[in-house]
This record gives sequence, structure tokens and C-alpha cells, in this order.
Amino acid sequence: MAQMSESPIDRLWREYSAVFRDFDDLTLARWLAQTLGQLEGRAWRLSHPLLGAYRLAAQLAHDRQIWLKRLVNTPPAYVEAPCCRAPLLPLLTRDVIDSGFICQHCGDACVPFDDTAPELQKIIRPWAESYAPVHAVAHWDDAQRKREGNYDGKFEEAADRAEDLLVMAGREIAPRILDFYPAVVWEDQDECLEVRPEDVEL
Ligand SMILES: [Zn+2]
Repeated sequence: MAQMSESPIDRLWREYSAVFRDFDDLTLARWLAQTLGQLEGRAWRLSHPLLGAYRLAAQLAHDRQIWLKRLVNTPPAYVEAPCCRAPLLPLLTRDVIDSGFICQHCGDACVPFDDTAPELQKIIRPWAESYAPVHAVAHWDDAQRKREGNYDGKFEEAADRAEDLLVMAGREIAPRILDFYPAVVWEDQDECLEVRPEDVEL
């Protein structure tokens, strides 16, 4: 069943991840630890190829419970994530108020929004609250589309606004999160509004 619900892009990423499946546990743990060192000190687009590779390896490591085996030392700047005890590498998404920062290893919340620093909440909350109604345009039902009229125009407007908000995430918010974590990832696309990473120019 799982295979049937898999989208073509999921299948492609599963194919990509085959390279890591050939790694034994120690090799995988070393690769992750070394890459975490290279990720340190920067805010990363979710679409960055290095991050994509890291995420694949991290998910596999999670399945194999690599971090619980303590095979390698991780760069000391990273604390242990409470969700799965992997090194804490937070992802900022537009759903951050509800979902918190997302763990790149297990996909759960690694820091609930209320547990983030008050300074961060102050800049993230207004951003996320402006983003929610913009994103919602992609999910308007027929009745609402009719009510608002010219849905194509409204959708286009929302996509433009989402681009601006994602630029803000990359330029202003992610660097501030970096004051609190050794590295951070930010979502640089909005698939529902058809905003692609290349549309989000920093
Ligand atoms: Zn986790």
C-alpha cells in the first residue's frame, strides 16, 4: 500500500537514497557527522543539494537508529534533539506556529514553537501569521473562489506574496535562528502556490 501512495517524486528520491543504503552503519554515521560539520554556521535552503543528500542519509540513519548506537562523535555545537536524539538541525516552515521547527532526521517537531526563544517568536509569529492567509488561497474551495472572483488573478497575487515572504524567511528570519542553533534549514518553496526555489531570489 505504501508503494501505491508514493508519488513519482518520492520514488525518485527513494532511488537517490540507494547510495546510502549501501553504507554500513559506521560509514553512514561518519558521513553524517562530517556533513553536519560542513553545514555548521549557515542557513540552508531546503532545496540545496547538500541538504537533500543529508536528509536522505538522515532518514535512513533514523530508520537504523544510528544515533542511539553512538558510533561517532558529532560536532559539539549540535545538541541532541529531544524527538529522536539525533543532532538538532531545525527546519523552518510556514506552519511553524503549529508544527514547531521540524527535525531533519525523524520529521517530528524538534522544537515546539512555544519553546523557541522569545526573540525568535517575536519575528517569526508575524511572518507566519501573514503567510497563512496567503497560502490558504491555494486551498480555497469552489464556493470561495466564486465569491472572490478572478481566481487566477488572486492565485497569482498570492504566489507573488508568498515569494516575498519566502525571501524574508531566507534573508531575515533564518539568519536570526542561526543565533540559537549551529545550522538551520528553511523551506524555500510553496508547492501549493507553485512557487519554486528558483523563484525565491535572495
Ligand atoms: Zn527527530
